[in-house]
Order: sequence, then C-alpha cells, then structure tokens
Amino acid sequence: MWELFGNLMMTYIIPLPEDVQFVILNPEGRFTHENFIESKYAIDFGVPIGTPVIASRGGKVGMVKDDSQEWGLDATFEDTNLVVIDHPDGTSAEYLHLGYKQVSVRKNQNVEQGEILGLTGNSGVMDIPHLHFNVFLTKKTKSIPVEFG
Ligand SMILES: [Zn+2]
Repeated sequence: MWELFGNLMMTYIIPLPEDVQFVILNPEGRFTHENFIESKYAIDFGVPIGTPVIASRGGKVGMVKDDSQEWGLDATFEDTNLVVIDHPDGTSAEYLHLGYKQVSVRKNQNVEQGEILGLTGNSGVMDIPHLHFNVFLTKKTKSIPVEFG
C-alpha cells in the first residue's frame, strides 16, 4: 500500500494557510471516518469558522456546493458545502464543511496548489467547527493516506 502510493505522498500540503493554527480532531462514533472505505484516511482540522481553505494539491475542480445552511451531528445533515479537486493521477481531494456561499472556485476551474478554495463554515454532519480533508481514488472512491510535504 505505502509503496504503491509512495510517489504521491509528497505532493500534498496542509490545506490551510501557514499562519493558521489548527488541531487534528479524532472523532468517535457512528460517523467516524474509519467506518467508511471512502473516507478511511480523512483528516479533520479543527479551525474557527471562516478560516481560509487552500488547495493541498493542484488540479481541476470537479464538484462545488455552497448552498447548504444545515448542519448537525445526525446523518440527515449530509448536505454539506464542499469542493472536490480532481488530480491528474486519478485521485481526488475533498474539502468539506465550507460556509454558506463561501466557496470561491467554480466547477471545471483549474487550481494551483495553495490557491484559496473558500472559507470554512457550518454545513453537513459535524459538531465542532473543522475542515474535513480526504483524498480518494476518483473512480473507486477509496480513501488513501497522504503525507504533507
Ligand atoms: Zn471528517
């Protein structure tokens, strides 16, 4: 596994500006990442609402949603604001729990690593404010681990 994806490991940066302080959250319970193959290696960065989110890796914007005002710790609040960026190697990164009308990129737009995608907010299945970051295989939607360079 680590060998297979070894050449991908150093192409990601922390998806937050360098001056932003964050804590890595380790959620427990029914909606914990480990319970789902498509989000097994997801990382929750605890940051205040309104924190800028940057592209961990460059690519093409595959999906954007920013019209949800719902959130809470229940599966019925799955309507989350997000950006998905497709990378050239068949992987994608998702950036979840963005703010209502706080996404600053458009679908099919090319983005550079480090470019601002939007601001965090309350949307989707969540309790405390955070950015959910996950890399997965675009076609098979299987989560894969990354290291930040
Ligand atoms: Zn998460």
